[in-house]
Amino acid sequence: METVVSGIRSTGNLHLGNYFGAVVNYLKMQHEYNCYFFIADYHSLTTHPTPKNLHENVRQILSEYLACGIDSGSATVFLQSDVPEVTELYLLLNMNAYIGELTRTTSFKEKVRKQPDNVNAGLLTYPVLMAADIIIHKATKVPVGKDQEQNLEMTRRFARRFNTLYGVDYFPEPTAFNFGKQLIKIPGLDGSGKMGKSEGNALYLTDKPEVIRKKVMRAVTDSGPTKENQEMSEPVQNLFTIMEVVSSPDTVRHFRDLYNRCEIRYGDLKKQLAEDIIVFTNPIREKVEEIYNDNEYLRKVVRAGAEKARESAAKTIREVREIIGFKPF
Ligand code: AMP
Repeated sequence: METVVSGIRSTGNLHLGNYFGAVVNYLKMQHEYNCYFFIADYHSLTTHPTPKNLHENVRQILSEYLACGIDSGSATVFLQSDVPEVTELYLLLNMNAYIGELTRTTSFKEKVRKQPDNVNAGLLTYPVLMAADIIIHKATKVPVGKDQEQNLEMTRRFARRFNTLYGVDYFPEPTAFNFGKQLIKIPGLDGSGKMGKSEGNALYLTDKPEVIRKKVMRAVTDSGPTKENQEMSEPVQNLFTIMEVVSSPDTVRHFRDLYNRCEIRYGDLKKQLAEDIIVFTNPIREKVEEIYNDNEYLRKVVRAGAEKARESAAKTIREVREIIGFKPF
């Protein structure tokens, strides 16, 4: 059975981008593949959370994973920091990761632009840790959004480089995966770019209905179409992209027709969109509230997950050590 690995950083709650870019695939894959879904809490350290926040964020994302329907009986659900073997592989891969290729990564360049006062080595080597997370379980498929395409290309490169350097065919080269074939990019509500935690433009699965209404009603649009079948501006196209994932095809068609006939009122579109998002997120939010304080359940999930993930990781580390030439006396 093919192995699947994917993770989400515990730097904030899950938003619609995380859900439709990644989690929706987890739900479809969990019963068909050997799945490892983790919470990237080592990765979250690049933003320097306080110890209290670190733990609360992990608990939150874990509750959200489970509330979305990830079945810890089928998939291995675990915390990255419960598998310290990954840090050893990270160190070993770092010896073959070059400064030039790391500084050229789009996500690194973006971070440098956004947080120039905290350009730490963890940010630079983010793709190396990501590669270690994935190849330590010898995954072949990685469900991710479009924003991770380049990082995954680097994962393949690091896997290939290891194989070439040691003349082995050890690590598979994993590919980005989406059930709908194309990788997804969910846009934000601010007119351009992707929805993201640090972009301040996200709709969270746990946002209350009144918050969702407020955010959607404030979303950027334009002054409206002036001729029939006019091409949409990016902000308007973005609202339709979100509508396509949360609303029924009939609703999307209805508003597209209105747009094409220049009869659309963006206020009506936004009202409908907000209500459809609320219908989608409400049951998840309620479930999160139930799970968040169920310590017994959460502990059981992460303990079982850690045990399975460590077993798989430890086997890889033993083999990698031998390939590299660390030999017992
Ligand atoms: P992150 O929140 O950056 O840790 O990303 C976790 C997962 O969510 C990754 O698979 C990303 O590709 C995916 N993701 C994050 N933002 C978006 C977005 N706006 N559209 C699609 N996928 C996304």
